[in-house]
Amino acid sequence: MADPRPSSAREHQTPCVVSWYADLSPYTYLDSRRVVADDDGATALNIGWLGAGIRNPTGPAHDGFLPRLLELARHSHNQTRGRHICALCDDPPAIITMTHGLHRVGLGSSEIHVPGGEGIVYAAPTMICHYVAAHEYLPPQEFVDAVMRT
Ligand SMILES: [Zn+2]
Repeated sequence: MADPRPSSAREHQTPCVVSWYADLSPYTYLDSRRVVADDDGATALNIGWLGAGIRNPTGPAHDGFLPRLLELARHSHNQTRGRHICALCDDPPAIITMTHGLHRVGLGSSEIHVPGGEGIVYAAPTMICHYVAAHEYLPPQEFVDAVMRT
């Protein structure tokens, strides 16, 4: 049965884990036109939509990668009213924030968009900052390279 509450009410539900999408798969979490313009022929690709029980690549982060991710998260896109919690933490906090310089960056309710190679825009949940810092998630090299070019 459909949820009878208006969407604005449903968005205030208990925080939920982020949806899982394979790295570099086509972006479908929200309308892709919220990532790339409809008429520029670009493709939005998923990065860092991690799920519980999924084996994620891990490894040491490139020097300077996390600060750049956090800077991108400070200027995030597609802010939603809902909030995701971490699917990888054993006892995930309801709200995850990280400090970046003098700024406190809230994670879990918006996205990072990073221009990649020609015709590519990567879309990652801001939670990717936590995944890298706390769970040693290692995104695909082409995404790391794109972030380092920002
Ligand atoms: Zn976590």
